[in-house]
Amino acid sequence: MTKKLSFMLLAACGVTFSPLALAQQGHAAGPIVVQGAMPVEAERFAQRLDNPREEQIGGWRFWHGTLDGYPVVVSETQKGMSNAAAATAIAATRFHPVAIINQGTAGGHDPALKVYDIVLGKYSVSLGAFKTPKKAAGEGSDSRQWQPMDLLASKGSAGEDKNVHSIRQFPADAKLMAIAEGVKASYTRGKVVEGVIGSADVWNSELDRISHFRASYHTSVEEMETASAAQIAASFAIPFIGIRVLSNNITNQGKYDPQTGLACQDYVYQVVKAYIANAETH
Ligand code: SAH
Repeated sequence: MTKKLSFMLLAACGVTFSPLALAQQGHAAGPIVVQGAMPVEAERFAQRLDNPREEQIGGWRFWHGTLDGYPVVVSETQKGMSNAAAATAIAATRFHPVAIINQGTAGGHDPALKVYDIVLGKYSVSLGAFKTPKKAAGEGSDSRQWQPMDLLASKGSAGEDKNVHSIRQFPADAKLMAIAEGVKASYTRGKVVEGVIGSADVWNSELDRISHFRASYHTSVEEMETASAAQIAASFAIPFIGIRVLSNNITNQGKYDPQTGLACQDYVYQVVKAYIANAETH
């Protein structure tokens, strides 16, 4: 009997299996994919995998291994929205993951958050998709007047359709969020909060623009990958969460510290272990 057929028969009898139980029985269970844009955001996790094997696909590096006996793939997406989307699509189609965690560094929008604090993204938004108002030559430009443009809202014109001018939210998977919340006590470098992650191929250093984003879209942090990876994960119906450490926060003079990328991987390592332990008992 094929594995798929036997699984279907067992499932039809009301027997359910966790991914780990399936893996132990030799059935295919997709890996957990952990994404990081830069080497300092991915290599530490890759080094902690058991039996790691590096694979290069196009311009992207993936490390296959296991953690507590469960398959995990660490993906170095490289920086920016296009890279994050492409790496996510490759992971989705090649590895069929059970979950994708996008993690790494971010800049603070919330003055209450300090460098080393961690934001569990309850949802992410694109801070790069807007329609500007019409202005005549010489009238200048003010990005605070731009309206969000939801590129997924309609098959018609993204610019003219009145329904597309609210910001698209890419939510975290509820189970991944619960697990990420559950390991908070393990983190000693700062606090861990739920918040909104804003993503674009832009590094914002204008305080008025940052406070406009925070007031309009409730962003806690900004970075360059999460909303893009979340959008593609959603297209494949793969559970997703973004987890970001503040590496800088110009709203409270928080100086850039790339070492925060290591702390974030250590936190996400605990999340992945908890996910696997949870899969074992369900
Ligand atoms: N400062 C680094 C470059 C980081 S580029 C250097 O000089 O090498 C931006 C990367 O860091 C992106 O992958 C993005 O996700 C993250 N990032 C951290 N803080 C950010 C911020 N304030 N704005 C935008 N991206 C930020």
